[in-house]
Amino acid sequence: MSSVDQYAVFGSPIQHSKSPRIHKLFAEQTGQALEYRAELVPAEQFTAAVKAFFAQGGRGLNCTVPLKELAWDYADKLTERAELSKAVNTLALQEDGSILGDNTDGIGLVTDLRLNHALSLKQKRILILGAGGASRGIIGPLLDQQPQLMTVANRTVEKAVVLAQEFAHKGSVSACGYDDLSGQSFDLILNATSASLSDELPPLVEGLLAEQGSCYDLAYANKATAFVRWGREQQAIKSLDGLGMLVEQAAEAFYLWRGVRPDTTQLIQLLEAERQGVG
Ligand code: NDP
Repeated sequence: MSSVDQYAVFGSPIQHSKSPRIHKLFAEQTGQALEYRAELVPAEQFTAAVKAFFAQGGRGLNCTVPLKELAWDYADKLTERAELSKAVNTLALQEDGSILGDNTDGIGLVTDLRLNHALSLKQKRILILGAGGASRGIIGPLLDQQPQLMTVANRTVEKAVVLAQEFAHKGSVSACGYDDLSGQSFDLILNATSASLSDELPPLVEGLLAEQGSCYDLAYANKATAFVRWGREQQAIKSLDGLGMLVEQAAEAFYLWRGVRPDTTQLIQLLEAERQGVG
């Protein structure tokens, strides 16, 4: 057992994860002694891998695709936002030995939009593309910002309908398929599909983005994603990707584990500068 506190991210695939780097830099910046590694863990090995990790002295875990629902099942206790989203991206060992499950994706996104990009969500019309695990995590925190309305559009419409029903008590949220979006326009369009990972776009009709509207792709890459490029073509005032969300959700997890808030601005600037050198 190592004397330094152990943290990790589990997922499959995992080789391109930026989380070990982000947490290492947070630890250096805040003077916290910890180690954080990435481990390839397919769904069928999840339970055994998590048990072994905590049995060997692990203090906290991040879980990414395809493990967030399994992590939700695994946790002994859940934060309110994790309970609602039915997906967990952060597990934390508690003093009594129990495991707390949280979902920091939504607050990470909202912080990036509001604080890093000065985008207010109040009374805005929001469209979310996709109804997978990421959408589950962001809908509640976005509705907390009191938008005028929210629409969730998905290829498999039934999944969007289920999500809209689950979150109906938090605000005005409806569901539809992509064809049903004709004639509507939105102030903020968030791409929470995984289409960008294969440089594809969901089937988007013309006129979806209102004047002065913004686009945000939860996915991130060294080059502009297909959806970020689409946003630019639609004259979005901002067309952003999910790098800032990634750093902000990591900062929330770090805070849950260590009780210390890292400076995210510095790190986002560093990662942006690095990818501009690459992209
Ligand atoms: P899931 O696999 O749970 O869901 C994928 C969603 O994408 C489904 O709604 C699916 O539709 C839809 N989809 C996939 N391909 C297409 C396509 N070609 N056209 C239209 N819809 C499509 O993935 P997640 O929700 O976990 O992740 C979604 C994205 O969010 C990923 O790119 C991920 O990297 C990103 N993400 C970023 C984070 C960050 O910190 N920046 C944090 C979490 C996620 P259907 O249901 O019909 O199959």
